Amino acid sequence: MKFGGTSMAGTERIRRVANIVRAQAAAGENGTQVAVVVSAMAGETDRLVNFCREANALYDPAEYDVVVSSGEQVTSGLLALTLQSLGLEARSWLGWQLPVRTAENHSKARIDAIEAPNMIEALEAGQIAVIPGFQGISENGRITTMGRGGSDTSAVAVAAAVKADRCDIYTDVDGVYTTDPRIVARARKLKAVTYEEMLELASVGAKVLQTRSVGLAMKAGVRVQVLSSFVGDDAIAADDLPGTMIVSDEEMDELVENGLMERQLVTGIAHDKNEAKIILTRVPDKPGAVAEIFDPLAKASINVDMIIQNVGRDKGETDVTFTVPQSDLARAQALLEERRELIGFNRIITDSHIAKISVVGVGMKSHAGVAGTMFRALSDRGINVQAISTSEIKISVMIDEDETELAVRVLHTAYGLDAED
Ligand code: ADP
Ligand code: ASP
Ligand code: MG
Repeated sequence: MKFGGTSMAGTERIRRVANIVRAQAAAGENGTQVAVVVSAMAGETDRLVNFCREANALYDPAEYDVVVSSGEQVTSGLLALTLQSLGLEARSWLGWQLPVRTAENHSKARIDAIEAPNMIEALEAGQIAVIPGFQGISENGRITTMGRGGSDTSAVAVAAAVKADRCDIYTDVDGVYTTDPRIVARARKLKAVTYEEMLELASVGAKVLQTRSVGLAMKAGVRVQVLSSFVGDDAIAADDLPGTMIVSDEEMDELVENGLMERQLVTGIAHDKNEAKIILTRVPDKPGAVAEIFDPLAKASINVDMIIQNVGRDKGETDVTFTVPQSDLARAQALLEERRELIGFNRIITDSHIAKISVVGVGMKSHAGVAGTMFRALSDRGINVQAISTSEIKISVMIDEDETELAVRVLHTAYGLDAED
């Protein structure tokens, strides 16, 4: 079971979480063995990140990890205490105690392995394990964290390590919706969504699950359910699957055949306001020019997403436009400035005031016209598309950030996803 930040925000909420854990632990004839992964209280990680920035703008990521991992240490201890107050046996297992072994790349460390024999022994003895998400330990014995939203990945990794029957991700909405239900009131809850679609939705901004957690679940075959922790005092076990299940293609086919799911052209719509646009003007239009631009960015681990190279004008020059995460914009700009002579561009123009809107669905593989519907719906509302990128099951457009909510709503209606009254 994994509980996110809003679910862990304060004593009262933690008590509700403890109730849900108790109900799950009591389920089944002989009870159920439960490992719980928790996030820091809502807002806490942001607060800690700010302290790091204030202390040293160019902070050392290893020390950053020491600071930001502390929020989860607090909530794991508090949940263990609360479970004990209900008369249950429980203890916390910090990242270094399990241990959760990760790569060295601080602040976005990848999980390599979880060694859980001691914890499994404790589970078998009837103790509930409480594990702080987001944190691990590197080969050098230093604390690492797994990137924002990383507790989801911790939870899936723990589930894989103990060969759990299921990984229930409890959050502040009761499942995965056709789009962020906080933006579109008529968003519909999905009974199930395939790993492939969830992976794509997460990677284009549906923050309900961290992208890596979905990739790991798919690879390790972990059954993941997303559901709400905001239930009354009479919490019940989640075995009757009240949330959204992440399923394989075969399971989805079965659900459709049995009339439990409808096949849609578009499954969901996501938005991302965390990217920034960079335009380099008057880049020489010759072989090797774009390599000079993107090689240094790749070496600095800066992810480039959408790329457009305009048609060369008469003078053998062209403009190159692309997007990077906002948090990497300053670094990217500095790297490019350093290479102005080498690349040979004229000006560098940046803009953080953009958003990426994406429509995702496996139905696109076999149907034409999905992109056309998108561009028509946006243009009918006067929304200008600045860049486009596609994959087999996704179309993304870059627009002005101010039009994000409108664009998501318009597309939700255009693809027939709105819930009926
Ligand atoms: P937690 O703290 O539990 O990890 P997050 O804030 O990371 O929770 O993720 C849950 C949020 O994801 C929801 O409150 C919702 O606003 C947002 N969200 C974005 N897209 C979707 C979607 N398609 N379905 C459900 N929630 C979504
Ligand atoms: N507390 C971390 C964050 O806010 C990890 C998580 O909640 O998943 O990003
Ligand atoms: Mg989250």
